[in-house]
Amino acid sequence: MGPLLSNFQVGFLATCTKFGQRLIAPSCLLCAGASAGALLCAPCDADLPRLAGEHGEHCDTCALPITSGTRCGACLTQPPSYDHVCAPFTYAFPADALVQALKYRGMLALAPLFGSAIASSLDERPDVIIPMPLADARLRERGFNQAQEIARHVAKLTGIPLLPRACRKVRDTAPQAALPWKERAKNVRKAFVCDEDFSSKHIAVVDDVMTTGATLNELARNLKQAGAARVTGLIVARTLPDAFRTLNV
Ligand SMILES: [Zn+2]
Ligand SMILES: [Zn+2]
Repeated sequence: MGPLLSNFQVGFLATCTKFGQRLIAPSCLLCAGASAGALLCAPCDADLPRLAGEHGEHCDTCALPITSGTRCGACLTQPPSYDHVCAPFTYAFPADALVQALKYRGMLALAPLFGSAIASSLDERPDVIIPMPLADARLRERGFNQAQEIARHVAKLTGIPLLPRACRKVRDTAPQAALPWKERAKNVRKAFVCDEDFSSKHIAVVDDVMTTGATLNELARNLKQAGAARVTGLIVARTLPDAFRTLNV
């Protein structure tokens, strides 16, 4: 008679037990303290770097901090194709680490947390939501589009329709983070195709991070060409100028 359970079955049961323990007694992802079933404990959640309140007034278009008026100088002199950006967090520790954990370590459990943060910071109601598209090659490599995972939860929580395939990324561009600022707009030019007729629609584009805004601007340009009346970026974490200097990019 052979062993009662094969190695595969033993391994499978061990994985199930670990998963079960995680469900029964979850701890905070950041401090490993008790979190009452949530991904983050209340103090860690309260400590996340929020955009609203922490940095005074923000540009109504790109969400960067401003000292006077309603728009920053850059948006006034060269208005982007998008109209508004809404972001719950700044791209600073530990929000940046959480964003990277979803994108690069496949921690999909973070998508509902980000989705709910975006949903509760919404300051206007768009007609439809689309995720920032990912090129096919990148999607195959990563196995998921983090923007789509987050967008699904925003749609579920707000009841706003999600159009996951309305736009496609047809050119696999170099990662924006690897490029100097000035080259980012050129890198994403003609990267998207929108098949839908968006006439008179207010479109919200969900993405995880916004740095120079070049990618959102290029997609918004396409959406406007497809008839969109207004384009809003719903971004988990907005990179601020201080962070730019620290990164030396
Ligand atoms: Zn904690
Ligand atoms: Zn601005």
